[in-house]
This record gives sequence, structure tokens and C-alpha cells, in this order.
Amino acid sequence: MTAKIFLKLISAVFCVLVVSLVAVDFMASRIAETSYVDTVSREFVGKCRILALSDLTPENFKAFAKAAEGRLTLVKSDGVVLADSENEPQKMENHQLRPEIAAALQGEVGISRRPSPTMPGSQFLYIAVPVNSGALRLAVPLRNVQAKVNAIRFQMLGATTLAFLPAILISAFFARYFSARLGSIIEFAHQLAQGNFSARLSSSAPMGNEFGVLSARLNDTGEKLQEMFEQLQKEHVELERLERIRKDFVINVSHELRTPLASIQGYAETLLDGALADPHHNTRFVQIIHQNAERLTRLTADLLTLSRVELKSQRFNFASYYVNGLLDNARDSMKPMADKQAIRLVMAYASPTTEVFCDSEAMHQIVTNLVDNALKYTASGGSITIGARAGVVAPQESVEVWVADTGVGIPEEDLPRLFERFYRVDKARSRELGGTGLGLAIVKHLTRAMGGEVRVESTLEQGSTFFFTVPVHDLGLSPDESIQPHLTAS
Ligand code: ADP
Repeated sequence: MTAKIFLKLISAVFCVLVVSLVAVDFMASRIAETSYVDTVSREFVGKCRILALSDLTPENFKAFAKAAEGRLTLVKSDGVVLADSENEPQKMENHQLRPEIAAALQGEVGISRRPSPTMPGSQFLYIAVPVNSGALRLAVPLRNVQAKVNAIRFQMLGATTLAFLPAILISAFFARYFSARLGSIIEFAHQLAQGNFSARLSSSAPMGNEFGVLSARLNDTGEKLQEMFEQLQKEHVELERLERIRKDFVINVSHELRTPLASIQGYAETLLDGALADPHHNTRFVQIIHQNAERLTRLTADLLTLSRVELKSQRFNFASYYVNGLLDNARDSMKPMADKQAIRLVMAYASPTTEVFCDSEAMHQIVTNLVDNALKYTASGGSITIGARAGVVAPQESVEVWVADTGVGIPEEDLPRLFERFYRVDKARSRELGGTGLGLAIVKHLTRAMGGEVRVESTLEQGSTFFFTVPVHDLGLSPDESIQPHLTAS
């Protein structure tokens, strides 16, 4: 590309040079010829005048012609040729109508340029002056004139070409510079057109120069395009992810609803078909229907909570609370269940004045969800610790709350997805225990809605610890702003 532009620029320069040279040549040859013919004419007029004064006889006629370096002709006033240095006068026609003779016979100096009728093909310069008996004419071949004119032309062309040499060198330098810059700009535009938005122009041109400014502008444009492109790509990936999650969610919800509904329908039909009267089975079947109805109630309640948080319709009442008090409330709610399973509830309090800024009901739900899970996955005789500690600073001053159990633990590969909706390590066991698969998703969304984060640590067969943070101070989260859209995906 660069070579092509260079060739075009340099060809343009050469065209200008050639046109200039042709013009110079044309002018030079015109001027040289005119001035040369002028000088020669003046010389010849002088010579003819001297000859006219001389005593011209046929004998000295040829000698005079030789001295004058031309052909000499003497014509009478009626046009008859009296003498000629190169022809027999008797054989020559009447010269009265020759333009130079006609002028001389009128008493003026006659000058004419034309081919000779006696020597066809060669141009002659004829100069005639009046003499006593008629006219005396000197003819010189223009071949000599042409040779002189050509010499002058060549000299002028040579000088002009020489004068153009620096111009050619400077033009070549600029052509090279412009073609290199233009070439790189065209290549850059090509790269952008191909979608390579990370391409950049080298900033070798100084900023003051137009190319420098243009390069900087184009680089800015490239940068903006790249940013926009990356942003669009991210949004596209995010949209795809959300769409996948949405589809999965719909499938999961349908599946979760279908199983208990099918069970209720099946057992109800069996009862209607006669089992109602079967004293061995009817109570059992009604119990199963009751269990599944409870499961549906739990599921719809969890879905409702989750969608309220997601749709931002959940109203939070943020206030400062002593964290130990909130933990005590949760412990009190869960204690009967723990006692039933013979599991110890241990408290690991923060210092008594440790405050958190949160919604007390949301906090209660988070802790009870975590303790409820811990109870589900811990065998009798185990223990569950509910604790809090202040002083977690990043990204804001927070209190960390945790629920640790001595239960079955969670395989490491399941940890990253544990907080996704409907994600369970062991589906069958979760259902058996009355789980909906939404408990941890609710924990995550409520925590984030209050400006905190969740995480989990677990060792198989030894137990799991779920941590979440709660801000100490008001983060200025209004109920509407409290949920970041990108956090509601799972
Ligand atoms: P579920 O209703 O099934 O308990 P959750 O969202 O509360 O749903 O929990 C998701 C999964 O995480 C559970 O199915 C279980 O496999 C695992 N899990 C949660 N808490 C614990 C825990 N304390 N110990 C072991 N596994 C747990």
C-alpha cells in the first residue's frame, strides 16, 4: 500500500516535471529561433548592403557568395535573374513574385523563410535588399539555424533538469514520508474495518503536524470503539448467562412443583378409588398428601421471598442493632428443634456493644436458614455454633456472623455453586429433609441486599461454616437501591 501511494505521488511529481520541461523546451526553441533568425537576418542585411555597393560581375559573384556563406542571386527590376552563384540565370524562372524580391523591388528589405523550389526539402532564409539595377538576394539554409537553436534548447533543457534535481529529491523525501503515514493510516482503517479494535497507530509523527493530530484522533476513536465493543461483548455474555439462568429457573420451578403435585394427585385418586375405606392405608396416604402439601407451601413461600427480594418489593427497615441480641433471637427460635435432635447450640458472641446496621427480620431469616440447614445436615450429639466478630473492614466496616456445624460437610467441587437456586449436593436427601433448594439463595440475596457478602468453608465429615457480613454503618442503601441487578441472577 505504502509503495503504491509513493509511486502515485512520485508519478505526479514526474508528470509536473515533464510538463514543465515540455513547456520550457517549447518556449526556449521559440525564443532561441526567433532571436537567432533575427540576428542572422540583421547580419545578412548588412552583408547584402555591402555586396550591393560592390562591383558585382559574374566572375566575382561566386566569390562574394562564398564570403557571405550563402547563395547569392541578382534580380533585375522586372524579376529576371541576372546572376546566381549556384545556377545558370537563363534557366531560372522570373523571381518578381518571390515575397522577399517583391519587397526589395519596392525599396524595402525583404525577409522570407520557405523551402527552396530548386532544393526541395530544405528550408531557406531569404533576405533581399534593393540595389540600383533591382534586388540582391542572399539565401542561407535554415539547417544551420536549426542546429544552433537545438544547441540552445539542449542547454536550456539541461539547465532546467539540473535545477529540478533538488526539487525531485525533496519531492521524493516528502512522497516517502506522506506515503508511509498515509499507508499506516489506511492499514489502521482496514484493521478497524476487520474488527481489530485493539490496533493502534504509532505516534511517531509530532503532535503539531496534521498527521500527528490525525493519528491521535484515530487512536482515540479506536480506543472508544474497543471500549464499546468490549462493553457490548460483556453485556452479551451477561444477557446469555441471565437467559440461561432464567430458563433453568423455570425448568427447576416446574420440576419442583410437579413432584409434590403428582404425589398429591396420585394418593388422592387412590383414596377416592377405594383406599379411603382401607383402615390399614388411608391414614398413611392422607399423611403423604399432607407432607406434600406442606412441601408445596414451603416452596411457594421460599419462591415468594426470593422474588420479593429480586423484584425489590421487599421493604427493609434498616436500623442499628446489637448483633448479640439478634443472634439470641435466632437461637431462641431454633432451640426447640435443636433440642429435639439432641444438637447443642453454642454461642460465640461479639463484644456486647458491637452494632450492625440491618433489617432485623432479614437478619433473623438469614441466621435461622443457616441454623436450619446445619440442623438438617448434623447428626444427633453434634453441635452448632452461632458467632459474630467485629472488625472486618473491606470493603466497609462490617461484622462477620457465622454458623458452624459438626455435620456431614460439603464436597469441595460443590462449594462454588452452593448458593445458586435449587442447587443441592444430594437432591434426594434434601427433599427427604424437606428442603426446597432455595434456602441458601435466599441467604445470599438478603445478605447482599443489606450490603454484605456470604461465603462457606467446609471439610467433609467434619462440618461446614457459613459466614456472612453485615455493615456496621448506614451505607445509604434505599430499599430500591439495595439490590444490584447483576447480583440477582442466581
Ligand atoms: P436445601 O433446602 O436443600 O437445604 P439450601 O439452598 O438451603 O437448600 O442448601 C443447598 C444445599 O447445600 C443443600 O441441599 C445441601 O446439600 C447443602 N448444604 C447447605 N447447608 C449445609 C450444611 N450445613 N451442611 C452440609 N450441607 C449443606
